[in-house]
Amino acid sequence: MEILSATHQIITSIVILAFKEILEQPLFRAIGKVADDCGQPVFVIGGYVRDILLQRPTTDIDIMTVGNGIELAEKVAVSLGIRSKVSVFRNFGTAMLRYKDLDIEFVGARKESYQRNSRKPVVEDGTLEDDQKRRDFTINALAISLNEANFGELIDPFNGISDLNKGIIRTPLDPDVTFSDDPLRMMRAIRFATQLGFTITDETLLSIAQNKERISIVSPERIADEINKIMLSHKPSKGFILLEETGLLKLVFPELQKMKGVDSFNGIAHKDNFYHTLKVLDQLALKSDNLWLRWAAVLHDIAKPNTKKFVEGAGWTFYAHNYVGAKMIPGIFRRMKLPMNEKMKYVQKLVELHMRPIALVEEEVTDSAIRRLLFDAGEDTDDLMTLCEADITSKNQDKVRRHLENFQLVRQKLKEIDEKDAIRNFQPPVSGEEIMEVFQIAPGREVGLIKNAIKDAILDGIIGNNHEEAFQLMLEKAREIGLTPAS
Ligand code: ATP
Ligand code: MG
Repeated sequence: MEILSATHQIITSIVILAFKEILEQPLFRAIGKVADDCGQPVFVIGGYVRDILLQRPTTDIDIMTVGNGIELAEKVAVSLGIRSKVSVFRNFGTAMLRYKDLDIEFVGARKESYQRNSRKPVVEDGTLEDDQKRRDFTINALAISLNEANFGELIDPFNGISDLNKGIIRTPLDPDVTFSDDPLRMMRAIRFATQLGFTITDETLLSIAQNKERISIVSPERIADEINKIMLSHKPSKGFILLEETGLLKLVFPELQKMKGVDSFNGIAHKDNFYHTLKVLDQLALKSDNLWLRWAAVLHDIAKPNTKKFVEGAGWTFYAHNYVGAKMIPGIFRRMKLPMNEKMKYVQKLVELHMRPIALVEEEVTDSAIRRLLFDAGEDTDDLMTLCEADITSKNQDKVRRHLENFQLVRQKLKEIDEKDAIRNFQPPVSGEEIMEVFQIAPGREVGLIKNAIKDAILDGIIGNNHEEAFQLMLEKAREIGLTPAS
């Protein structure tokens, strides 16, 4: 016991050293001074302390005081000469200051009790200890005093420092209480494990599995926030595997759950599309930070379970899964409260087109096929190629190398043709208005026919992408359908 507490003291001293430079900023001294004048204990607490110790850059600072947090924030703003307004959220008893590039949130210490069917606690004023107990994880409950008398003292009642060193996610109280009180914490546990590369203790993990149904009281927006943070992690597969193992996945993302498992027929099995998808996602994450491209990776094969069919002679087929998948996306986005705007359309487009580059290499890389891909993918062509490269998950290294080389060739061709023919941001060289004016016709079928003929001729390389050749072709097509210029 003595050895333990000695070790703890050493660790604590190291922590204080690590913090010393940061704490000595005028900001923290100023907060301490103002709180001293009010006779209130004050602490920097939670995510900021954790992230400084992990050397993760953060700009969000949480300040907790035993007493009124809003009044303290207002006095600190005066003392620091901050002219912009303090944002006050009376319902939550919090106030927010912006200082330099930092967001500083002030809150009074609180004690919470929960009702069974709501995430919204009944809040009372509490002590430091009450406040630390209601925090989600031991690593998020670390507090450092800012009052002059014990400036820099670490208050770590749940051995958060030791968990931080060991890379462990664990709740301060009985996990069944912590998770049942606020089930969002189950998603947060998995998100932190994924973001930080930490391990959730067995007891905590078991408790998530046991309390999973409670997730139903959490709003879809908050769940989507956590999924997005998992998705943006260095190795997102970890989070999805934990969601699956705890049983949360089928509640929050049933379509992805459905991808798990293999069917076999006459001894022929297809690959497990859940693990394949996760591998694609991890591979993509190494190449791009674009959240929506990562969503496209998660969803690219989402219709495989629905389109799966065993065909004699051909084996397992997933006919048109890219089209069916693209059609599923609005429903999934709507339910998860993800944006229904151009971001969703972008994901849809990539899912729909994800088979095209591979078809290109397997058949022949003709100029016309390249132009058509550029036309359909437009400015998202490079992202589509990145997705397709990540989609190669064969265990056969030779095959992987061959595919990657082929895609390199496609990329090269795309570049050449794009430079030559400017298809990526295709604007018809002869507009509908011009066609209507030349032939003195109203909008209608003929205009569409001529425009399409021009577009196809350009994409097929029959004419160049310029006004002169397009105008000639327009005259020819018009003649074919019995139109004459009205000059
Ligand atoms: P991030 O900013 O990456 O989301 P964070 O830990 O800073 O991580 P915040 O949501 O900013 O998370 O919350 C700040 C602190 O408030 C946390 O560190 C934790 O102590 C506490 N906290 C936040 N959400 C909860 C919750 N649902 N239950 C209990 N404590 C929470
Ligand atoms: Mg934070």
